[in-house]
Amino acid sequence: MGGLGSGTYRRPSRQARVEDFCAADVRVWHREGLLQPGRPFTRIWTENGRLVQRHEFLPGRDVLIVLRAGQPERLCLEWTPCTYGGARPWFLCPGCGTRRAKLFEVRDRFLCRSCGRLAYQSQQERPGDRLALRAKRLAARIGGGGVLPNTLAGKPPRMHWRTYALIEQRAAVAWAASVEARQREIIRRCAGLGRTLGNLPPARDQ
Ligand SMILES: [Zn+2]
Repeated sequence: MGGLGSGTYRRPSRQARVEDFCAADVRVWHREGLLQPGRPFTRIWTENGRLVQRHEFLPGRDVLIVLRAGQPERLCLEWTPCTYGGARPWFLCPGCGTRRAKLFEVRDRFLCRSCGRLAYQSQQERPGDRLALRAKRLAARIGGGGVLPNTLAGKPPRMHWRTYALIEQRAAVAWAASVEARQREIIRRCAGLGRTLGNLPPARDQ
């Protein structure tokens, strides 16, 4: 979170991350029994113990009203049957009308991730870092303590050798790909730097 509730408006951009916006998760609210028609409830959003946003909601049968200070906002709900009985709720995104479990408050409006043009933090990480993280996670599953490439600690008890070998192979592939991606990134940056230097006027002798 950040910037919310501070009274300043932050223009959403391609770089805006879902983690920075108040999320409304209708599945969680349903699980908590909050979607009782006619019974208002309050939700607060905090960051490091600090209150960043607070809203009152009034549920109806197929609607959830956000009781904002100015204009109340109307969020439509849709219910779909579950396999084992009962029904689960969805938001219908006010921007695109698609069913969504989560909406994010962007510019005093709840919108889906696409309409708010929000990205997950992981999508902004460089490919090399993302692949290295994947390799480390795989290595951790086979006792590598999350450290690669050659400190695998042997097969954990009760794991099949075939599973172990498969995970080890995937970790190695991810690691090699991460090294390659990082090399490409360095080459790309050097090329960019070269172009920048090429555009500079030649140094004059004193
Ligand atoms: Zn949408």
